[in-house]
Parts: sequence; C-alpha cells; structure tokens
Amino acid sequence: MRVLRQQCFVFFSVAIFLFFHLSCAGLSKSQSNQKVEPVKNVILFIGDGMGPSVVSAARVEHLGKNKKLSLDSFKNLAKIKTYSEDSPVTDSAASATAMATGYKTKNKALSVSVINKKVIKKYETILEIAAKKNKYVGLVTTSHILHATPAAFFSHVPHRDMYNEIALDLYKSPVDLILGGGKKFVDPYKNKLEEKFKLVENSKNINLCQKNRIVGVFSEEHLPFNDQMDLKTKKKISLKNLTAKALKCAANKKEGFFLMVEGARIDHALHLRKHKTALSEMIAFDQTVKMTMVYLKKNNLLKNTLVLVTADHDTGGLAVNGPISDSSSFFDKKGHIKKTQKKKGLGPLFPILKLSSDPLHGSNPVDSTHTGVDVTLYAEGQGSEKIKGTFENTQIFQIIKKAFNF
Ligand SMILES: [Zn+2]
Repeated sequence: MRVLRQQCFVFFSVAIFLFFHLSCAGLSKSQSNQKVEPVKNVILFIGDGMGPSVVSAARVEHLGKNKKLSLDSFKNLAKIKTYSEDSPVTDSAASATAMATGYKTKNKALSVSVINKKVIKKYETILEIAAKKNKYVGLVTTSHILHATPAAFFSHVPHRDMYNEIALDLYKSPVDLILGGGKKFVDPYKNKLEEKFKLVENSKNINLCQKNRIVGVFSEEHLPFNDQMDLKTKKKISLKNLTAKALKCAANKKEGFFLMVEGARIDHALHLRKHKTALSEMIAFDQTVKMTMVYLKKNNLLKNTLVLVTADHDTGGLAVNGPISDSSSFFDKKGHIKKTQKKKGLGPLFPILKLSSDPLHGSNPVDSTHTGVDVTLYAEGQGSEKIKGTFENTQIFQIIKKAFNF
C-alpha cells in the first residue's frame, strides 16, 4: 500500500512537472514565434550640411529660442559619427555611400570601394535592394539629380563628378522616380533616358508616375534657394511640394516604398557663407518633414512607416554665439532678434560662422568647409523607439535593412 502511494506520488509529480515544463516550453516557443512585423515604408530625410548648430540657429532665427521645429517633436534620437574611410571630415559622396550601402568609403567615391582611384568593389544600395523586393523607390532633392547624395543611391563610380557615368547608371538603375534640378546634366542623355523614364519638366506631370517611371528636372542646375523663390514657384518646385507629389506616387504601391528626400542646399548656402539663406533652407527642410508627418498620420501610414531624419555632415562650423552682456537688447519678447540689431548688422548673421581650417579649403577665406562633428538622427514611426545611442553613419543602412526585414 505504502509502495503504491509512493508510486502514485512519483507519477503525479512527474505529470505535474511535465505539464508545467511543456506548457512553459510551448509559451516560450509561441513567444519566439511572435515575429516583429516588417516596416512597409521607409523615408530617409537628409539635410545636407545640417549640423546640430544649424538646427539650433534656424530655430532661434525663424521661430524664437523657446519654440519647436518639427524635428524637435521627434521622440527618438541618436548621434551619428560621420567620418569617411580616408578622413575625419566626410564629403557628401562618402557619407551618402555609408547611409545607402552600409560601407565607409573614401571621399568623392559613390557606392564603391576605391584604391588608387580604381574601383575595387561595387556596394549594393538600400534602394537597389528595396527595388528587388518590389518596393517603390524614389529620390527627391533640391540639388541637381546627378549630385553626390542622390547619386550614391543608384550609381557606382570612383568620383562624384563623373556625371556622364552617373547618368548612365541612372538609366540602368531601378529608380522609379527622381525629382530635382539639372536639365543641363540630363539633356545629353534625354533620348536614352526616355527609353525607360518619362522626363518631366513641369511639376504637374509628376502625377504621370502612376504609369511611368519619372525623371523630373525643374531647373538648369540646382533648384533655386528657398529664399529666392516667389510663392508661385514654391507652389510648384519647393522641396515640400515635390516631396508631397513623390509621397502620393509612392503610397500607391501596395508592397510599400523607400524614399530619400534631401535638403541639399543648406550645405551650398553654408559653403557660400550665406547664413540667412542656409537657415531658410533648413526651415524649408523642416517644413517638408512636417508635411510628411501630417500626410502619414492623415493616411494612417505612420503605423507601418519608419521616418528617419539626419544630416550627412555639418558644414561651416556654425556657432550660435550669444551676446556677452545684455541679451534683452538683442532679442524681443518672442525671442526673435530685434530688427534694430539686424540693421546694425548683428543679425540675422547673428549666429556667427567660425572659420574652419580644413586644409582642403582653408586657403580660400570666402569658402567655408565641412566639419567632423557628430550629427543627429531623428526617428519616428514603426520601430523607431529602438533607435537610441551613438552610431556610425553606416548603421543607418543596417537600420533600414533590418526594419524592412530584408
Ligand atoms: Zn558641402
């Protein structure tokens, strides 16, 4: 009897153990089966030259020191190290390559590794990978469309100035839509490009994207600076309006999309030391981000879209220098620089550009240069909450690839 009771005890103990063990195993198995839903769409915004002080200066100058840019509402931030393979100070080609392919390369090179000016290896870009996975892939820029940043997403050349080769790479690329300036650069390849793309020079015709791949060029070279466009022109070809049209084209693709949107001319204005223009370009870029977020929310797309906003590098080493003594004489109650101070020449150039000593450009006191400071990565949308820390710029490629589950 006692033996029987002992046997029963052992039997039930084993049964209870097995029950809990198996149900726990089942639970952990079902937990591990809970895959993270891949992101359907990714939008990568690049503010060319938009170092942290450019963001601060634009906020102070245009909105007031205590106001918020659209970027300031992004909840998830990281710092990005921008150096290139051969320099602590990157150019746009190497930086765009890092973000587009996940590889550091030498300054001037586009999505290739280079030794002694020879291409050693071509790096596949996130745009090319996304196209293979049947995503809609598009690029919008305020520079000419064969310029370094957009070109890094579809071209593979040892030097960014090889516009002929870059145009041919565009012809061979899977790009569905590319918008910006550069009739001058595209014209020699017009006939060839028209075999595959609809070439449009009137922004109204971007809506032909439903049935055509689009190359849209809306100025001879780069698009005009934001503060040089009248309202009528802005309605047609401002970064915000071109991006709005690109979003509509992309959002129609049921498999999703990858878009890169570049505010290219923040950098150009900073090179020219046109500070006021640079800050206006930054604001136009920020408004483009704002319009995009409103569009995504309104169309219920933010839940499966990852939005990343960053800079390829800082330009100009801008410093937001405050007045040493009495700040009330500089700012009005809203935090704007007083008109009287502007007349004195103390603003809007008030955020003072410090001379950089980059040996590449240091001999030319008129030109200013890129710097090697870290830039900010802003993230919103699906999966963005994991984006925190200090990253290499190459990790932006990894973040997008992982988000898409490629
Ligand atoms: Zn530059």
